[in-house]
Amino acid sequence: MKTEIIKVKTSAHTQMTDITRDVQAAVSKSGITDGICLVFTPHTTAAITINEDADPDVVRDFTKEINKIVPWEDDYLHMEGNSAAHLKSSMIGASEQIIVEDGKLLLGTWQGIYFCEYDGPRNREVWVKII
Ligand code: ZN
Repeated sequence: MKTEIIKVKTSAHTQMTDITRDVQAAVSKSGITDGICLVFTPHTTAAITINEDADPDVVRDFTKEINKIVPWEDDYLHMEGNSAAHLKSSMIGASEQIIVEDGKLLLGTWQGIYFCEYDGPRNREVWVKII
């Protein structure tokens, strides 16, 4: 299959966007029923993660706490002024892998796939490949 591209338009500086439905749509479109789904973002100030998608407070807490762990201002040297976003991108990671079985993403009951924005708002991409 060709790599599927999911477009994500973020509206805040730090934001987690649930992309589970978009990734499942890419799996369904591929026609592949069993394999591994790689979800990757080609940005240095964004990330992909899997976490709870039932209670929206989890995402609010996650966003609040990661901004405390890596503050936006801290005498960074990087001239672009977004070192905190680069750090968070590597801490959370640029990709996730999910088992595909019977044409469905095998996620836990409470799990969802998130695109994590750390230097928004921006127009972003997520690349999906089913192997
Ligand atoms: Zn930068």
